[in-house]
Amino acid sequence: MSTRATQSVALAVAGTAGRHATKPRRETLRPAVSPGGHPAVVRVAPPFALASRESHLENTVVEAGGVRIGAGNFVVMAGPCSVESRRQIRETARAVKAAGAHVLRGGAYKPRTSPYDFQGLGRKALEWLAEAGRETGLPVVTEVLSPEDVDLVAEHAQLLQVGARNMQNYALLRRLSGTPRPVLLKRGPSATIQEWLLAAEYLLSGGNRRVVLCERGIRTFETATRNTLDLAGVALVKQLTHLPVIVDPSHGTGKRALVAPASRAAAAVGADGLLIEVHPCPECALSDGEQSLDPRQFAELMRTLTPRTLAACG
Ligand code: PEP
Ligand code: MN
Repeated sequence: MSTRATQSVALAVAGTAGRHATKPRRETLRPAVSPGGHPAVVRVAPPFALASRESHLENTVVEAGGVRIGAGNFVVMAGPCSVESRRQIRETARAVKAAGAHVLRGGAYKPRTSPYDFQGLGRKALEWLAEAGRETGLPVVTEVLSPEDVDLVAEHAQLLQVGARNMQNYALLRRLSGTPRPVLLKRGPSATIQEWLLAAEYLLSGGNRRVVLCERGIRTFETATRNTLDLAGVALVKQLTHLPVIVDPSHGTGKRALVAPASRAAAAVGADGLLIEVHPCPECALSDGEQSLDPRQFAELMRTLTPRTLAACG
């Protein structure tokens, strides 16, 4: 058999690994060469067998602290880039809750490009974040940077974020595949969709089926926005996988004035929700102030994301 044919067959076999493999679709059939040298047709399944829509036709609903993500509702997660003080996170939690957010975000461990930038307040921030979540009744999402922090972060948060820079940190993914907590997997700034879904596959194949994907913009030649928000990619990923997909318009654009239009666009392409940075005083923020909404701007955005608007989008 030729190398190409062998590879095709291997892929075809790998593609049947999903528990609910379905009939091959026309697009998954490719010509190859049979052992006798005659043309043959074999199935080429996506390499992300468990993440693929073919392995699981129904949308997966991920539950995080009582909030269902991917159930046809639109879930908004909001809060500051970094937890800076007890007062700041409590105030933000109250404001985003009042505006209708479903999950509280806040960073305790911050992946920063420069080692001289604010790195987050660690354990203390986790405690304040958890307290603010309890007070408002909001489940908490926060980033875990390294495998040794997973247990501590999981004690304080209901949803564990893998940041864009860590999307291909396989030691972290393997560790998270064994936790009972759901994972929010951000797309790497230079990751293809296939690489992103293969990162999800690490979590799924390791036993954690509670995975939510988050598009947060990718690096392109364009510098007018911080990143290029790949909304067509979101629509594509919704077709390729059964996992819920949310959008982060804050990192995706880097500009406060673009957060609301990008949020509405995300809803229009079928995203299951949003992750938005909100700070009581964006000008005073220790990280990402220029892309953070203040509570009034966030409340205004939430008013435009009414069920009626969303139904019109959907
Ligand atoms: C964040 O959510 O604050 C963050 C650091 O995001 P990203 O990993 O997408 O850059
Ligand atoms: Mn940020």
